[in-house]
Amino acid sequence: MKKNKQTLLVALGGNALIRKGQKGTVDEQFENLKVPIGQIARLSGKYKIIITHGNGPQVGNLLLQQESCDEVPKLPLEILVAQTQGQIGYMIESTLDAELMKLGDDTGHYFVSLLSYVVVDKNDPAFLNPSKPVGPAFSKAKAAGRPYPTKKTAKGYRRVVASPAPVTIVEKREIKKLIDMNFIVICCGGGGIPVIREGRSFSGVDAVIDKDLASARLALEVGVDIFLIATDVKGVALNYGTKNQEFLRSITPQQAVRYTKDGHFPPGSMGPKVEAAMQFFQISGKRAVIASIEDIERAVAGKAGTQIED
Ligand code: ADP
Ligand code: MG
Repeated sequence: MKKNKQTLLVALGGNALIRKGQKGTVDEQFENLKVPIGQIARLSGKYKIIITHGNGPQVGNLLLQQESCDEVPKLPLEILVAQTQGQIGYMIESTLDAELMKLGDDTGHYFVSLLSYVVVDKNDPAFLNPSKPVGPAFSKAKAAGRPYPTKKTAKGYRRVVASPAPVTIVEKREIKKLIDMNFIVICCGGGGIPVIREGRSFSGVDAVIDKDLASARLALEVGVDIFLIATDVKGVALNYGTKNQEFLRSITPQQAVRYTKDGHFPPGSMGPKVEAAMQFFQISGKRAVIASIEDIERAVAGKAGTQIED
């Protein structure tokens, strides 16, 4: 057993499963997963691997199903997050199995997806101001009759929930043990099942945790060597989406603060990725990269994506 291998954490964005403009059928999701998982399978020869993933479109679909049916009791968000950890974990595992097989059946790798809880602080100010939109869009009239807060967004009125900061990953020791035993571990899906610690026990809360911030926490708590955030753009850009758009090969913490202040990294998309990468880099001094799902191997090799540097 090679205990001296470096550890790589790859945080997969929602587009690893459902690409923009797709309906998100199961066939599409399995097909899309081959791109990141094939690369991760190859990298597992050299690195201990942790995979985390988003769940926005999947939770969105579950919420839409709930809104369309009044015959079964509504499930709180923490249960929906747990459901998506199961469904996405299963899809990643079976893709990983097939991709490892392509490399030969003696890679000596095991894998497991782990239901993961993430502790949040019940006094987190996010609970006073739920602001993360989830689920389907409603008309103003329909939104007014919902049993939860809604907010006007570009798509229409949507439910908003608290997005508190991740404090600690409950299963961090188990995850560390598993990667040391050569398991590829899939965990912290959708940012983790949000729980509040009460004495020695935990209880779930109706909230969602940002998957990039939860991944940074996990990366720090397990002590990974490379933290890679894989998304649907080739890196971090200035003036994104304008004719002056400019992708950066690297970014320093000082630049990140300045560009964030200047509005280059919106909350809910590039903002939390830059923040997560910076938190990891500044505390550990180790490598953080934001890159495209297509470029995972090249980004690990330092040849693609935006690297965080001093
Ligand atoms: P994920 O599912 O991977 O978390 P998000 O949609 O949350 O993906 O974030 C990635 C998106 O951030 C990109 O598709 C892009 O549209 C958007 N974005 C906003 N600002 C920037 C920026 N400055 N540089 C690059 N992408 C940006
Ligand atoms: Mg996101």
